[in-house]
Amino acid sequence: MSTIIPQPGIMDIALYEGGQSHVEGVADVLKLSSNENPFGFSPKVSEALSGCLTRLHRYPNTDHAPLREAIGEVHGLDPERIICGVGSDEIINFLCQAYAGPGDEVLHTEHGFAMYRISALAAGATPVVAAERERVTDVDALLSACTERTKLVFIANPNNPTGTMIGGNEVARLADGLPDGALLVLDGAYAEFVDGFDGGVSLVDQRDNVVMTRTFSKLYGLGGLRIGWGYGPKPIIDVLNRIRGPFNLSEFQMAAAIAAVRDQDWATRCKAENARLRVWLGEELAALGVPSDVSLTNFILARFADPAEAEAADLHLKTLGVIVRRVGGYGLPNCLRITVGDTVGCRRVVEGIRTFREENA
Ligand code: PMP
Repeated sequence: MSTIIPQPGIMDIALYEGGQSHVEGVADVLKLSSNENPFGFSPKVSEALSGCLTRLHRYPNTDHAPLREAIGEVHGLDPERIICGVGSDEIINFLCQAYAGPGDEVLHTEHGFAMYRISALAAGATPVVAAERERVTDVDALLSACTERTKLVFIANPNNPTGTMIGGNEVARLADGLPDGALLVLDGAYAEFVDGFDGGVSLVDQRDNVVMTRTFSKLYGLGGLRIGWGYGPKPIIDVLNRIRGPFNLSEFQMAAAIAAVRDQDWATRCKAENARLRVWLGEELAALGVPSDVSLTNFILARFADPAEAEAADLHLKTLGVIVRRVGGYGLPNCLRITVGDTVGCRRVVEGIRTFREENA
């Protein structure tokens, strides 16, 4: 008998639990557990996808130049400093593979996105957690958690699942305080939802130890296709391209992303609707005794009295077909993360919480 043993660290990875999408016995299910765009993607994406059908016998373009140029044009960035991946998850993975290994530390915040830990462990590195201050990234805690072994520091700004963000000066202070050889990763998965925010582009341009990641899964409504990108100093993008599979993105992914990023009218309309409904949802839930921090994203983190109440509210919503996200695994057992849906979706959440309150008064 041979013994096949995985690399150290792999068995410490808990399987990722994605947002649930069905409830036993309930037909009319509303999924508000994965921060997807309730309005879907731009209609231009469908046309672009049909246009790919005649080309599928060919391998896709390997350098993603047309997509990088489209992103570069819309965001005012040098396409040579952009890398595209299978969701920003893949960019996070590339960063860990390229810059962290056994003996190295990968630092992230207490309520940080699950992939930072998963990718760090998969690379053989050690994930290290820095406390937050009242569900907000704490630069001092991150800086004090750094050692000479720190190779990567991940912060999502705004953060998932808290919805909060820190200002540019704080992010710059973090970049400047890192030990030599440590790279700061600004995860901008929700950057598009924040008015006038560039996701950290200006900091990337001013420093050589900062990279930014972005996604088409949230505002652009393309989670099912899996497209993300990163922007950073040229030497770092060059390193990441060495470990990128040559055909990591399909024709479908590239064509869809180009159409989506070029349709800024659609994106702007979705963003405005999200902002309006997010405020409404937050206020209505607060009036029902369920407060949340001010969120800058497409979800709110609803706070209940204790974990038991959060669980009961979650189960009640489920019986009504409304699926939200339990975030106990993120260290927030008394909270539920609720994606901002469309008007009907937000009303269903509020009605669900209202009946929950009435039944548990
Ligand atoms: N970063 C954060 C903070 C996220 O919330 C997510 C998705 N939940 C991602 C990265 C990954 O997004 P994707 O791989 O779909 O681009």
